[in-house]
Amino acid sequence: MMTALDSGLRPTPPRPVPPVLEVRNLEVTYYTDLGRAKALDDVSFTLHAGEKLGMVGESGSGKSTLALAMMRMIKPPGRIEGGAVIVGGEDLQALDEDGMRHARLSRIAYIPQGAMNSLNPVTRIGAQMVDAIRAHSPRESRSAVEDRCRAALRSVDLSPDVFRMYAHELSGGMKQRVCIAIGILLSPAVIIADEPTSALDVITQRQVMETIDKVKDEINAAVILIGHDMGLMAQFVDKVGVMYAGRLVEISPVRAMFKTPLHPYSEALISSLPNLDNKGVFQGIPGLAPSLLRLPSGCAFHPRCQRAKAECSAVRPAVRTLESGRVVTCHLVDREP
Ligand code: SF4
Repeated sequence: MMTALDSGLRPTPPRPVPPVLEVRNLEVTYYTDLGRAKALDDVSFTLHAGEKLGMVGESGSGKSTLALAMMRMIKPPGRIEGGAVIVGGEDLQALDEDGMRHARLSRIAYIPQGAMNSLNPVTRIGAQMVDAIRAHSPRESRSAVEDRCRAALRSVDLSPDVFRMYAHELSGGMKQRVCIAIGILLSPAVIIADEPTSALDVITQRQVMETIDKVKDEINAAVILIGHDMGLMAQFVDKVGVMYAGRLVEISPVRAMFKTPLHPYSEALISSLPNLDNKGVFQGIPGLAPSLLRLPSGCAFHPRCQRAKAECSAVRPAVRTLESGRVVTCHLVDREP
């Protein structure tokens, strides 16, 4: 058979696969009696199907606000003030309320922090799962809906018998798996899990992360894991985003992030992890995360940054995308290491 080369024609290069998720310039502000707090400041990133992003940072850095903004679940006095969340080519921020209600769970699923404690104690697990599907497909037959629920339970390595059980009959790890099963019921393209392993023991944490990995592969979803445990993230994600004072200060592939962190705050987070050199002793980052109501001028990290220079307290660093695709927001970094 004649190939394109034999015939003198140049083979067409494969088209780049578009990302399944694009967050573009997302902004959230809270208007409080004490003043205006910018909780999310110009946050942009993309994710492909099957990719896992770990979003880390100290409390109040904007990780959970990001998840809520993506789901359009920011409550007053907070307000989404700009930006786009594009899933499969469609901007969720542009949908009307009804369209967004449908998009939740079917296109983008959110497993909130402490989700396992929000399971209804007096309703069987199965009924809670059926309700989630019914909200989207009210005409689907009862038996088809129940089959889907049992299949989702099997996907997260739970017995289908859990369908008939109550939350109090399940361990913490099992409840978290039920929440993951509810999250994947409608095979969303994007799953956001906020602190999915908090309050679980180390072994169960690992099992829950492995379960998330498995369901991600089954439905080829893009996954965002929000957490503060950089060490746990390192084992399970493809890239890491680091947030500080509402800004995404670095986003890098996980290996590159740990080998050569670009932003001084990423570097401080990584060196604060216990390791053999520091004999497992926890080393904190000096200083405190700033209040969003009174952000330092210039780079918000400058009062804690060991490498700050004069410019840092006066000029806000711009977001830079390097040739490799790594993104960083620091005056010191303008090229690959
Ligand atoms: Fe540190 Fe300056 Fe970079 Fe901010 S911009 S992280 S203060 S070096």
